[in-house]
Amino acid sequence: MALIVQKYGGTSVGSAERIQAVAKRVVETVKAGNDLVVVVSAMGKTTDGLVKLAHELSSQPSRREMDMLLSTGEQVTIALLSIAIQELGQPAISLTGAQAGIETEAEHTRARILEISPDRVERHLKEGKVVVVAGFQGVSATGDRDITTLGRGGSDTSAVALAAALKASACEIYTDVPGILTTDPRIVPEAKLLTEITSDEMLELASLGATVLHPRAVEIAKNYGVPLVVRSSWTDEPGTWVISPTTRSRSLTNLEVSNSVDAVEFAIDQAKIALLQVPDRAGIAGQLFGALARERVDVDLIVQSIHEGNTNDIAFTVDKHAASRAQAVAEAISPVLHDNFAPTHDSILVADDIAKVSIVGAGTIGRPGVAAQMFKTLAEAGINIQMISTSEIKVSCTIPAADCERATAALCNQFEVSVSTNDHTQPVNAPAVRGVALDLDRARLAILQVPDRPGMAAEIFGILATHNISMDAIIQSQRTRVINGVATRDIACTIAQGDAADAKRFLDAATTRLGCGAVVVDESISKVSIVGAGMVSNPGVAAQMFTALADAGINIQMISTSEIKISCVVARDRGTEAVKIIHRAFGLS
Ligand code: ASP
Ligand code: MG
Repeated sequence: MALIVQKYGGTSVGSAERIQAVAKRVVETVKAGNDLVVVVSAMGKTTDGLVKLAHELSSQPSRREMDMLLSTGEQVTIALLSIAIQELGQPAISLTGAQAGIETEAEHTRARILEISPDRVERHLKEGKVVVVAGFQGVSATGDRDITTLGRGGSDTSAVALAAALKASACEIYTDVPGILTTDPRIVPEAKLLTEITSDEMLELASLGATVLHPRAVEIAKNYGVPLVVRSSWTDEPGTWVISPTTRSRSLTNLEVSNSVDAVEFAIDQAKIALLQVPDRAGIAGQLFGALARERVDVDLIVQSIHEGNTNDIAFTVDKHAASRAQAVAEAISPVLHDNFAPTHDSILVADDIAKVSIVGAGTIGRPGVAAQMFKTLAEAGINIQMISTSEIKVSCTIPAADCERATAALCNQFEVSVSTNDHTQPVNAPAVRGVALDLDRARLAILQVPDRPGMAAEIFGILATHNISMDAIIQSQRTRVINGVATRDIACTIAQGDAADAKRFLDAATTRLGCGAVVVDESISKVSIVGAGMVSNPGVAAQMFTALADAGINIQMISTSEIKISCVVARDRGTEAVKIIHRAFGLS
């Protein structure tokens, strides 16, 4: 007999009829010989309605009272669903989060789960009952044991956490879409349903998948190896499986608040090649990486950012043994890229004495302090960061090779983890590109003329982290510019548009102290990303993406990559077109 956790979202329980349909599916699952725990959301848009009511009374309602209020939505659903299930002759019992043993931090409106004591749930299962649990809520483990909520969309998290605690054989998320698609179907109607996706890919696609499956739920599934499937509650289609690596057994205490960093990785024998001051126009990156792919040069990190004078620096890393080939390609193509004008400075920089250190962990999502802490740790060790590249689940820095051992030791010590060997085990046949995502809510933030010395990234991103502002695609310019005798670089990153004004204000207040130049915000951007575990062993993927954009005359303003993701910043009004083109270019339609 298998134990299954099913979760039904708001639209799936939006009316008495829908609740009845859910009850039928529940009873069928039991009849098929399973034990069943059902987690539900509030009906339809109930939570939104409650938020609105509170805001009619106060512009800043107390967070404790908001939890008291919002948690009622799910309590309505558990009772109604239990009644509907009982009506079909199947014993059932409803439990609040507290009754189900879900203990959280005392952080109202955004509590993380600390521990689940599933005894009561297990007792009712033994009695032959379906246990219906209120999603999105728990009880604070300390103090007055008040009701807490996990943050909007938190029922997914409740369901997967319960599945982990009960060691369920699967967690099924029922929603109003058929599963995870290759891209947003509102942009590309031919988007295809994925039969499976890895949890890492899912996390990297957070912006694509977050509305379907909460990233915190994916993080728990990944950490505890919970088999997870997303499917429609309207049909019997199989949906999309989210595949997690089988993990070493992990303690269930501090379920959501244990280390946000899982491991430190490093790669020595890396070389960095940078092309400076290439013109800012469509096609440059496509030509460069196309030429590298034709020579079978496997490129690892790529960063590009625009700077003063409207020219770009493009930098990439390769294995040291490929450095001379990469350099030859770069030298051959440089005059073409530079319109046959020899640039004023050296146009190509080669450094073959660099290393890459990374921190890895699903817990870095939405926790800006983690990246800032990494920069701070390196700064305190006196290590200067050359390139920074961030993705949802990883932050990588290139540093001088001579500092690699010290950097790794300092980071392991700081995050209390060990070094993991850089094995990118990927599912067999993982496609190079699994999905394409568009982020329209990003703004580009640039801090100009940042003194080139250890600690500056830590200072800057520390300021943003203190105010809980998350940044991604952090890029430092490759060229340095001497201002009043000090070598400086520009640093740019993308952040949520809603944070842009605040970020600028906080940084403006610090530029004099830090000796930096102006802080510039550009809101007219969008970020287009491709994700695929199979791109690791496929040298031509980046070139294919850049060329597709170039063929459509779309200029790439920023590039940043991780092993399984490539992101390009393009003009906001070209974003949807870019997604369509790329989706087609990789044969996903
Ligand atoms: N009802 C909560 C919300 O709307 C939790 C959830 O549906 O997952 O955010
Ligand atoms: Mg939801």
